[in-house]
Amino acid sequence: MDFLQPTSWSEALDLRAERPDALPIAGGTDVMVELNFDRRRPGALLDLGRVPELSEWEADDGVVRLGAGVPYARVIDQLGAQLPGLAMAARTVGSPQIRMRGTVGGNLGSASPAGDAHPPLLAAGAVVEVASAARGSRDIPAADFYTGVKRNALEPDELIAAVRVPAATGPQQFSKIGTRNAMVIAVSAFACALHPDRRAVGTGIGSAAPTPRRAADAEAFLAGELQSAGLWESRAELPETLARAFGERVAAAASPIDDVRGSAAYRRHSLSVMARRAVTWAWSDLREAA
Ligand SMILES: Cc1cc2nc3c(=O)[nH]c(=O)nc-3n(C[C@H](O)[C@H](O)[C@H](O)COP(=O)(O)OP(=O)(O)OC[C@H]3O[C@@H](n4cnc5c(N)ncnc54)[C@H](O)[C@@H]3O)c2cc1C
Repeated sequence: MDFLQPTSWSEALDLRAERPDALPIAGGTDVMVELNFDRRRPGALLDLGRVPELSEWEADDGVVRLGAGVPYARVIDQLGAQLPGLAMAARTVGSPQIRMRGTVGGNLGSASPAGDAHPPLLAAGAVVEVASAARGSRDIPAADFYTGVKRNALEPDELIAAVRVPAATGPQQFSKIGTRNAMVIAVSAFACALHPDRRAVGTGIGSAAPTPRRAADAEAFLAGELQSAGLWESRAELPETLARAFGERVAAAASPIDDVRGSAAYRRHSLSVMARRAVTWAWSDLREAA
């Protein structure tokens, strides 16, 4: 197996085009599992670890551009204030070792329905920036990026450059159900983001459909109810019935399956509970900030 080690972004894109049999590798925390279990035997590995452009992040005009190779540990240490939902999710990933190596770009590359970065990226309205040597770069909204179980919208000659995430303008929450607190794949997961600046609500569901997905109906319902009750201005307490109705709509947006980690019914139920609690916590954070 060849080992390709580009040292710049343009070289990485050239190699991606020249070697369609090469598998990109960032932190390797998914790729090495696949190789070790002999699930994949690529002709080459395209190591992205020495491409400096991928390991940087910058904030400009209210948007954080997070290089695909930034590991979870740095999201936690450096971006908790600007991307609180993603940082909360990052804290739940694997173990310290996995958080040091594993990247948000790798989570997007694997596109597992259980990947923890996806719900907060969806809730925040993130955009995935991808590029090829032949056609340059293009933007894919996170909501369009996931195309099936462990499939994404990348073309064979493309790499993920970065993900652009609007910096939080209001509270964000992330919840994940697993069989224990650490080193666990989510049985179901939920993220929400309040956007008081535009009076909108964002959501992301994980592990409860073939792809991570938004609960668009629940978002519109809650934003509309908050608007008609004047709650965006008054910041009065969130009625429990409203939080519950939101949770039910989130659960209705899922299409889970029964598998070894949990039943479809449990996934739906846990989503409705997580969504109710998450939005109640987020709303109470918004009231405290007022
Ligand atoms: C013990 C253990 C615990 C884990 N726990 C969790 C968990 O709690 N939550 C969770 O979500 N995940 C977990 N994972 C899975 C894994 O850590 C994450 O999916 C992580 O985000 C992968 O990032 P990486 O940089 O290691 O990706 P890699 O393994 O390097 O790559 C993953 C995929 O993305 C592709 N890829 C990587 N970078 C790019 C790029 N720039 N452009 C195009 N394609 C690219 C690769 O080709 C590959 O298909 C765990 C894994 C292990 C081994």
